[in-house]
Amino acid sequence: MLKKLPRVLIVGDGLSAHVLAHRMVVAGIPFLLQGMDTIGAASPAAWGLLNPVHFRSFGLSYGASWYAESLAFYRGLEKKLHRSFVYEAPLEHLDARPEALAHWSMAWESELHSIIERPTKDSLGNVRIVLPQVAMVSVPTLLKESRSYLKEMGLYHQAWFEWPYSGYGHRDPIEHAGGQFDVVVWAQGVKSLDSGPFKALPIKPSKGEGLQLSTQGIAGQKFIKHKGMFAFQESPGAWRVGSTYSWSDLRPEPSAEALAELKAGFIELTGIKDFKLVNHWAGFRPASPDRKAMVGQHPLFDQHFVLNGMGSKGLLMAPFLAKALQEEMQGASDKIPMLCRLDRFTKRLINFRE
Ligand SMILES: Cc1cc2nc3c(=O)[nH]c(=O)nc-3n(C[C@H](O)[C@H](O)[C@H](O)COP(=O)(O)OP(=O)(O)OC[C@H]3O[C@@H](n4cnc5c(N)ncnc54)[C@H](O)[C@@H]3O)c2cc1C
Repeated sequence: MLKKLPRVLIVGDGLSAHVLAHRMVVAGIPFLLQGMDTIGAASPAAWGLLNPVHFRSFGLSYGASWYAESLAFYRGLEKKLHRSFVYEAPLEHLDARPEALAHWSMAWESELHSIIERPTKDSLGNVRIVLPQVAMVSVPTLLKESRSYLKEMGLYHQAWFEWPYSGYGHRDPIEHAGGQFDVVVWAQGVKSLDSGPFKALPIKPSKGEGLQLSTQGIAGQKFIKHKGMFAFQESPGAWRVGSTYSWSDLRPEPSAEALAELKAGFIELTGIKDFKLVNHWAGFRPASPDRKAMVGQHPLFDQHFVLNGMGSKGLLMAPFLAKALQEEMQGASDKIPMLCRLDRFTKRLINFRE
């Protein structure tokens, strides 16, 4: 545990690294964020939903209780960066599963009545769930503004960070980019599988793709629509559609299969067949086998910490977990939730050989 304020090098250039950087600014911890965006990174591909409900399991997501804190964090960041990137809108979820009405009704009665309206059925027999308000965050805009802000303060260095494995003793300050650092926090997303001291962590890349489409402006489409995928008219005639899931497709580029799936999903959700493709993107969610994040200190190299495994819920989890990590690095204990701690991978990390 570190007794004085550590000088921290953050490695990464996605949501996790930038959220942590802003937590560090507030805590007054000196740091440098070194990162470089690469093809396949999750954050530029994120659809952007910040939402406490897990539709597949008819209940709350892991970390749902952090929703208000996460939203307040992004709202605060908007003010600091002088740019809007958070939007709030109602969400309509349609569920065709035979068991949906019973499960959603039970969930509404027990824990969801303050979050969703009472479940109903639409004319096609789908169970219809409405969340009167959820948030969407434009992650690319957040990252663009955060990079310029940190750069201006001399806290951002856009470059790849190589880790010379044998070069680092356990307690010596780390010399890098003309500075000395006491610790490194690795927020690499799926790239941690390629390099760094957390290579042994079982990050599972989950490919996701999304589209931007243009149509004639459609009046009265205020809902974020969801049935398997999301569609939202961000401004008249400009739609954001996403996302697909694949555990088997490891090609970094957008695929024809996902394009067909997204177009079909959009037609089913909106009934609109006349549209133009404006953009198509892909990225890999850094998921974990138990769908929980991976946060904490390396069991062998105590100068090295990790913030990773955000999976498909980075927006909900990153603000809480980054703060918990920052507090533990300053000496607090039990801030990182049990289920996200690195203890569950100790053996793997200790036994790992290049
Ligand atoms: C299609 C899609 C849709 C999604 N939709 C949502 C959503 O609606 N809501 C939600 O909450 N989440 C969503 N997610 C998940 C969310 O995007 C991720 O949880 C989050 O962005 C993970 O951020 P990260 O910073 O941990 O990883 P990444 O975004 O992958 O960032 C890691 C970064 O670190 C850089 N890096 C790695 N190693 C080094 C190194 N050695 N030196 C320098 N730089 C390095 C990489 O190049 C990369 O830029 C979605 C993801 C995808 C792919």
